[in-house]
Amino acid sequence: MDLGIRGKRGIVCAASKGLGRGCAEALAEAGVDLVICARGREALEATAAEIAATHGVKVTPVVADITTEEGRADVLAAAGGTVDILVTNAGGPPPGLWSDWSREDFIRALDANMLTPIALMQATLPAMMAQGWGRVVNITSVSVRAPVGVLGLSNSARAGLTGFVAGTARQVAPKGVTINNLLPGMHATDRATALDQGAARAQNISEEDARAARWASIPVGRYGTRQEFGAACAFLCSQHAGFMVGQNILLDGGASNITI
Ligand code: NAP
Repeated sequence: MDLGIRGKRGIVCAASKGLGRGCAEALAEAGVDLVICARGREALEATAAEIAATHGVKVTPVVADITTEEGRADVLAAAGGTVDILVTNAGGPPPGLWSDWSREDFIRALDANMLTPIALMQATLPAMMAQGWGRVVNITSVSVRAPVGVLGLSNSARAGLTGFVAGTARQVAPKGVTINNLLPGMHATDRATALDQGAARAQNISEEDARAARWASIPVGRYGTRQEFGAACAFLCSQHAGFMVGQNILLDGGASNITI
């Protein structure tokens, strides 16, 4: 399917690895020129070069911590005046117990997973609205629809972002701009490997057995891939998704038994 976005310009945050990389790859395949960022230079530059060589688009890597004001300014400056597509993403907050977290922990989580995507939208939406076309996809989490007990910081920050998007998406839609959220369940990224290794250590079993147990909790019987995630993101950024507004789309292989 031609996504109808060849020649458009986009930002994909936190994209040297994992789900952000999947989104960057799928958008590049659709012909979108990209600015991508991550904190680590080596992986970022290698990913940018590989995506550019594979898909023949321009990919500008910006070494930046997107959760800082300076990092966001660098990314936005590299993208120039108007971007057509914005994909927000950053690492998730650490797990813990409700009683563990101080005000500072909450502020850090809100900064990274709520206020950062909001700041990026506030910076890019006006030009999208002025040109009459734009697409925003926020990478959030399954925890928005099925909160995970040990992820209280994530649950809190992502609930705040979801609320902001619900209102804002309806306010910008009349100008041809859509905002939607993609909610990943378990995907095969470095994070999944780290979780498998942690479970293996805790239960004194092999990493393979820990992974098999986690796979068994997903009806599809495996983790999602970054390619599947990226393809969903690219569709949301396509011409075809112009009637999808303010949605929270769960990609979890059926793991959450949720109907609406
Ligand atoms: P990942 O594999 O750990 O990838 C993280 C990517 O983001 C890397 O490129 C990393 O590069 C970059 N990054 C992290 N923090 C950054 C920051 N502050 N500024 C700029 N770049 C940053 O993570 P993932 O699994 O793709 O997850 C992406 C998001 O989805 C996270 O918020 C996660 O909580 C959420 N999520 C993931 C899953 C899953 O199964 N994978 C499930 C639910 C929710 P550097 O480290 O070099 O910066």
